[in-house]
Amino acid sequence: MPERSESDSRKLLRRLRDTLAIPGKGQDRLDRITHLIADSMGTEVCSIYLFRDAETLELCATEGLKPESVHKTRMKLGEGLVGRVARTTTPVNTANAPAEKGFRYMPETGEEIFSSFLGVPIQRVGEKLGVLVVQSKIAREYSEDEVYALEVVAMVLAEMTELGAFTSDEDGMRALHRQPVMLRGSTGQEGAAEGHVWLHEPRVVVTNPVADDPLTEIDRIREAVGQLRVSVDDLLSAESLDKDQKQVLEAYRMFANSRGWLKRMEDDIARGLSAEAAVEKEQSATRARLEQVPDAYLRERLHDLDDLSNRLLRILTGQGQDTGAQMPENPILVARNIGPAELLEYGRKLKGVVLEEGSVGSHAAIVARALAIPLVIHADRITSEALNGDHILVDGDQGIAHLRPEETVARAFRDKIAMQAEAQKRYASLRNLPATAKCGTTISLAMNAGLMADLPSLEGSGAEGVGLFRTELQFLVRNKMPQRAELAALYARVMDAAKGRRVAFRTLDIGSDKVLPYMKPNDEPNPAMGWRAIRVGLDKPGVLRMQVQALIRAANGRPLTVMFPFITEFGEFQAARSHVYRELHREKSLGHVVPSKVEIGAMMETPSLAYAPQAFFKETDFISIGGNDLKQFFFAADRENERVRKRYDTLNHSFLSFMEGIVRRCQEAGTTLSFCGEDAGRPIEALALAAIGLRSLSMRPASVGPVKALIRRVDLGEAQAVIAASRAAGDETARPALIDWLASQPE
Ligand code: PEP
Ligand code: MG
Repeated sequence: MPERSESDSRKLLRRLRDTLAIPGKGQDRLDRITHLIADSMGTEVCSIYLFRDAETLELCATEGLKPESVHKTRMKLGEGLVGRVARTTTPVNTANAPAEKGFRYMPETGEEIFSSFLGVPIQRVGEKLGVLVVQSKIAREYSEDEVYALEVVAMVLAEMTELGAFTSDEDGMRALHRQPVMLRGSTGQEGAAEGHVWLHEPRVVVTNPVADDPLTEIDRIREAVGQLRVSVDDLLSAESLDKDQKQVLEAYRMFANSRGWLKRMEDDIARGLSAEAAVEKEQSATRARLEQVPDAYLRERLHDLDDLSNRLLRILTGQGQDTGAQMPENPILVARNIGPAELLEYGRKLKGVVLEEGSVGSHAAIVARALAIPLVIHADRITSEALNGDHILVDGDQGIAHLRPEETVARAFRDKIAMQAEAQKRYASLRNLPATAKCGTTISLAMNAGLMADLPSLEGSGAEGVGLFRTELQFLVRNKMPQRAELAALYARVMDAAKGRRVAFRTLDIGSDKVLPYMKPNDEPNPAMGWRAIRVGLDKPGVLRMQVQALIRAANGRPLTVMFPFITEFGEFQAARSHVYRELHREKSLGHVVPSKVEIGAMMETPSLAYAPQAFFKETDFISIGGNDLKQFFFAADRENERVRKRYDTLNHSFLSFMEGIVRRCQEAGTTLSFCGEDAGRPIEALALAAIGLRSLSMRPASVGPVKALIRRVDLGEAQAVIAASRAAGDETARPALIDWLASQPE
């Protein structure tokens, strides 16, 4: 194989493009290409392997191997040398292929006579498409220059594959973005939805990967990088940047000014790629590295470079965020990640959301929950697989997205949605009935909310009021601290919409995972146990007071319910309460109308508060258990860590006994106790909580129906006896016993 010069490489790319321009079937094109590459590179073999599905590669065309093996020879990702190239997205270059670790001989191809092997990935910005291989009889390693030349060719093939150049026939070859794909992620928010993909950031389409004139392309890339540098500098000069944003932009600037990056792209162009294809080639290399870097900091930086490449591509192609595409009917938002404000902007238009990254505790997840939109997170590859308008099913319960599903899958899914709708109808018929168990005990069911958009659910769900209004969402979705008047107007609208029903406003719970974009971030080693919630409120009381003033003004003579998050000891409650007293006094002296009645409560979210002095229980107007936090601290299991968050059962007897102790202390003090963590909305958990003495539960609106239906079916005294018997029998958790018992209860 001769050494390849730059002009050889350009010639090959041009011949490749001309070949691809000839109309014909996809298979004919592939055959012509393998012939062309082998001929031009002076190798005996050139083969193209493409993915049949996410795990299987198929030999789709070859020059030099036995023709009958085409579409027969297949290998799994990671299998043999071809599979290794695909898995690692890095080239394999060897003079003695059979001696190479992992080599797998495919007898039907007749490849045993070829000693040297060079395989490079065919990929497009992180999407693995296949492998391009050349082989020769003579035992030699290919030069760096040859590897590079083949990578450039693979880049053009990737673009052409993306444009569907090889899928015009019906020979069973993988039609990119046309086959059904099931992506398994995790649950961000339960629920099911069917609709069409709406990409938050549409893919940039590169229509001509081959440069007509390298000099023009070099000018274009330099000019685009120049524009990029200016835009990053502009962003950096903005005033309202916090430390983190600055750090990210500094990294952007470093990359944008990096000579190495531009030089590599210029080299790619000299080899015959267009400016856009050169950016993508480097971006693919970045993504490949990203997959292999375990270091979190380095991964973040590589992400930055990836973002920067996207910006550069948009500058070059003129394809901005707004591509003019129409949002499809029943849009399902697909994104790598999304901020809470952006998600709120889409609002209830969306039927579902699928994210490649994200986390259960992220702000976006909180908003999705508030909007009751099914959300799947960690759906690997979704942004590279999905195209705008693709048919998609989102199964939030299982954490799965079905992209371009088979009709049978879609039908089964629709049955599931119909069943859920049927159940909702049944629940709707209970809307105006109380959650009274067979024993005659009534449980008060309220709903959790955080947005104005939640309030209409109050009518529909049958909830008696809002047991938890998370006020932080209003703070999280803004770029600057909201003003008192703004908040007062919002709280007033919430109270108006509640039409006299009780709304428990929780004061700002920030810190931990909820960091305000305009507040100086604190680098805390363990933010969930750090400076958060009421701790911030007491140390910097300005915001707390402003919020209380807004609430008093919003109430405008109506009753007001306020509670403080994350109270850990009695003194904190007293101090927080004194701020409310102070503001009431102040507002009155300023001539404002004060609420007709003020209830001041504490959220019990740390075990220590369960052992507070009796005076605490006597003095609080009510206590609300924040079960999400209380459970994480009781079991020492991070609620945001997928590995451990479901490890311990809420119905574990240790936890239930602990909760019984809290119920007892509240009963002794005559204080109202409620529970507002996610578990309140899970029917069996809700039943257990009611059985051990909780009389008030607050949950997602959609859960009110199912919880009410279950409570109305049972005798709580019997349920309590089942729990007691299970404990006496030495069970770890009461769940199996409760499930068995429930199965014997009439519908
Ligand atoms: C809780 O911790 O259970 C709770 C209701 O508050 P949040 O989920 O907002 O922390
Ligand atoms: Mg909490």
